Amino acid sequence: MKVKKINHVGIVVRDIEDALAVYRDALGLELTRVEERPDRGVKIAFLPAGDSDIELVQPTTEDGGVAAFLKKRRGGLHHICLEVEDIEAALTELREKGFNLIDEQPRQGPHGERVAFIHPKSTRGVLIELYELSES
Ligand code: ZN
Repeated sequence: MKVKKINHVGIVVRDIEDALAVYRDALGLELTRVEERPDRGVKIAFLPAGDSDIELVQPTTEDGGVAAFLKKRRGGLHHICLEVEDIEAALTELREKGFNLIDEQPRQGPHGERVAFIHPKSTRGVLIELYELSES
């Protein structure tokens, strides 16, 4: 598998507005956009940091993985996202190596990207998202 870069780091927050006091106001990152993702029960704020983004992820529903994470851990670092050249090949390789995949097939994102998560059980505790931007 070929990893190109860290695409983004996902940080779960109770309230994006409140978290901007840290990431925008204190650290000086620019907030470029906020997206509602009702399919995943979250709202995401994008703050580029060089070639990678910091994504602030706020749950918008009571159920779902992100809401559970917030309840249990009070937020914080949630996942890192690695951009790969070929997500199908990466998933096949990981499956062959016995990794526990949350997504057996990549899911389509809203901006032409395809993503899949690897279960933290298989990665010594870190939720890892694989990401491929398809040319279209
Ligand atoms: Zn992500």
